[in-house]
Amino acid sequence: MTDEPLHFEERSFSATALSETAPPLAFEREATTPVENIPQEIPFSFETAATERPTTGIAGYAELPPVNSADKLTRSIEVEQISSAKIQPLGQLHESFIIAVDDEGLLLIDQHVAHERILFDKYRKSETDRPIESQNLLLPETIDLSPAQSEAFQLIENDLETLGFGVMKLSGRTIAIKSIPTDLPASEARNLFAEILDTIENEKKGSPKSTLRDDIAASLACKAAVKINMKLTPEKMHWLIDRLLVTSSPTTCPHGRPVILRLSMKDIERGFHRT
Ligand SMILES: [Zn+2]
Repeated sequence: MTDEPLHFEERSFSATALSETAPPLAFEREATTPVENIPQEIPFSFETAATERPTTGIAGYAELPPVNSADKLTRSIEVEQISSAKIQPLGQLHESFIIAVDDEGLLLIDQHVAHERILFDKYRKSETDRPIESQNLLLPETIDLSPAQSEAFQLIENDLETLGFGVMKLSGRTIAIKSIPTDLPASEARNLFAEILDTIENEKKGSPKSTLRDDIAASLACKAAVKINMKLTPEKMHWLIDRLLVTSSPTTCPHGRPVILRLSMKDIERGFHRT
């Protein structure tokens, strides 16, 4: 790795050294890499109260300020405050968060939920715009549906087609998935299908059609989006940021979580007692 992207004068984020006791971030459950494999040292811990950190003093020095003072400084961002043209991605933090800068300071972008937002908007639009492109599976996936799943399937059969699924009914409650949306890895097809049908079943039949479509689009977006713990090329980071900023809601994912955190120059300077 000669082109290590993080060069902040020193070698990299030296904050790591100060945060040996920092708990891991609450990573998403669907991540492909088990959470245990993620190193425990994460410089900015957004989700922990400062009081939970044991204080460690160094003899002869004033007590070190808690690293997670970032808790108080980072904030989720307002759409009006960002302009894609000015955002420059520098690299990734733990191959999960894009570190970027603009005139206002530092931005951290959750790569998975950013992509999820982009795909969600795309899938929701497929009803009115052109249908989603699909790819044929080498081998069709046959699935035996439960009676409840089969009922759910009938409810959303047409929506699945709009989203790029090609499904054939075989005998009884058995179906075969022949094609899937191009964004979706083939290995996810079976799981995704079960997840969608179970969600629809739980939603109960009374739900408005738009809610069901949101559910399908959200599940599909989650499965097709880049995962955390995945290295991204600079081009891909630029692409994600550009596309994110033209979505219906760049700052929240389909489930309402923040997508971008901001650490402003003002807050950074205040943190270093420069103001
Ligand atoms: Zn997700």
